[in-house]
Amino acid sequence: TSAKAYKDAALAARLTDRYYRPSQDSDPSFTAEVEKIGGTEAHICFQCGTCTGSCPSGARSSYRIRNFMRRVNLGMRDVCLNDPDLWLCTTCYTCSDRCPRDLIPTDVIMAMRNIAARQGIVPKNFLATVNFIYNTGHGVPNSDANRAARVKLGLEAEPETTSKYPEYIPAIRKILEAYGTKQLADKVLAEG
Ligand code: SF4
Ligand code: SF4
Repeated sequence: TSAKAYKDAALAARLTDRYYRPSQDSDPSFTAEVEKIGGTEAHICFQCGTCTGSCPSGARSSYRIRNFMRRVNLGMRDVCLNDPDLWLCTTCYTCSDRCPRDLIPTDVIMAMRNIAARQGIVPKNFLATVNFIYNTGHGVPNSDANRAARVKLGLEAEPETTSKYPEYIPAIRKILEAYGTKQLADKVLAEG
């Protein structure tokens, strides 16, 4: 809610964010779009920082989930979608377990990744993973070293996945093709 919506002028003045300067990259519809796709009310984030303090990825990188929450709520579409840190979330959901506002920051990130992907903004290493999934059903396919380790542990060499049932790989290919993910990977990776 904009501070201007308050009837009490003194209160409105106190609530005005003096440090926020609306810029060309400020699109309120971005916040609404992210909330709709992510299914979580990002706008009630009160910037406590519990998410960033809990984030295993942030501890090892420049990625800050709280910063993304703030920028989403400022409608900073281009900044969010073009920040490479968007792709550093491991989707562990620790922040979502701990958010005192019961938000799901993980799904805010996933929503932005969806929007970015529709615009072709995806890091190349992610698109290389698409090809692994397309060819094997796995982002990290089984390997001889893994098979040997599994057998040593008393497990079957192949897990109960497409590694063991490769006949299901064509169904996975259909999904990747139906959403244009495979085509996007081929196009971007061919550009070198
Ligand atoms: Fe916002 Fe929740 Fe993160 Fe706190 S933990 S900054 S309320 S998203
Ligand atoms: Fe960090 Fe993503 Fe895990 Fe949340 S889900 S704690 S943002 S790595």
